[in-house]
Amino acid sequence: MAPRKPAITKVADLIREGLADPTEAEVLDQVAENFRIRITPEMQGQSEGLARQFVPSAEELTIRPEELTDPIGDAAHSPVPGLTHRYPDRVILHATQTCEVYCRFCFRREAVGSDGALGEDELDAAIDYIARTPAIWEVILTGGDPMVLSARRLSALLNRIAAIDHVAVVRFHTRVPVVSPERVNDALIAALRIRPAVYVVVHTNHPDELTPEARGAFGRLADAGVPLLSQTVLLRGVNADAETLERLFRLLVSHRVKPYYLHHCDLARGTGHFRTTIAEGEAIMSALRGRVSGVCLPTYVLDLPGGFGKVPLGARYVEGSGPFRITDYLGRTHLYSD
Ligand SMILES: *Cc1c(COP(=O)(O)O)cnc(C)c1O
Ligand code: SF4
Repeated sequence: MAPRKPAITKVADLIREGLADPTEAEVLDQVAENFRIRITPEMQGQSEGLARQFVPSAEELTIRPEELTDPIGDAAHSPVPGLTHRYPDRVILHATQTCEVYCRFCFRREAVGSDGALGEDELDAAIDYIARTPAIWEVILTGGDPMVLSARRLSALLNRIAAIDHVAVVRFHTRVPVVSPERVNDALIAALRIRPAVYVVVHTNHPDELTPEARGAFGRLADAGVPLLSQTVLLRGVNADAETLERLFRLLVSHRVKPYYLHHCDLARGTGHFRTTIAEGEAIMSALRGRVSGVCLPTYVLDLPGGFGKVPLGARYVEGSGPFRITDYLGRTHLYSD
């Protein structure tokens, strides 16, 4: 096997690989000072769908007035460092702030990329909070990307969570199976064989990300009995059309991954060039409804600024109240009374 290419982390590397224009070096360096660059070899393709997600752009220097450093209000619900507890039955644990790739639209772009994992004391405090809060039924490991941790460290963390009886489910949100599929190895899979049910939610936005290697990683996880879900961010210039999303969702389902959420692009600073309107997102969802299997359709959601949680969006099918005016998937309207 050929040795694996290194990850791209500098503007000079982007230029050498033909992914950025040398005349833009100065402005891209300025972008990289604010928001780190990292692109794994699998994601270094020339495809628009990949390049727009990972290659920095001068547009990131445009900060719109509505954009926020903490766009979904994580800080408003953080009982101890590294934990976000917004909904009673589930908590988010940010075990690390590093990722295998840095996505240009990331809603946690102000937090990710800073130094590494939670300290031992912070982790102890987070585990202690979960242990003394019986309402917590599910622990969501996100980041950063929890799968950048070594299998040994993940296993140690998972065993500590598994020792808490009231935790029934551990859910990973990760880009690793797509962007660094070789990390999904026997040691990682062995670490996932624990008593709480382990779910893996794969973050993927474009069919070009689903390389044969990524499909192999999905297969290894699914064969090990790990239920797979996906989350996708709706991104202008990447996937904001029904045809691209249809291809992505069909590919995912045919590789045993159930599309879970399509996120409206959050108000992170310097991401306005990626954001669609809600009306555009709703139109895409109604174009998909009826055209693709219901199994392929995720829920389109908006995460409200300020920490108020997620709200389902989507085409409005029901108007009025008794009789209701209901629009079917072909746009025909019907009256219905209950
Ligand atoms: C998104 C999110 C969750 C998970 O929400 P689900 O709808 O269960 O996927 C939990 N906590 C916080 C703080 C979140 O932002
Ligand atoms: S992998 Fe996830 S957390 Fe990391 S930069 Fe991308 S979207 Fe953000």
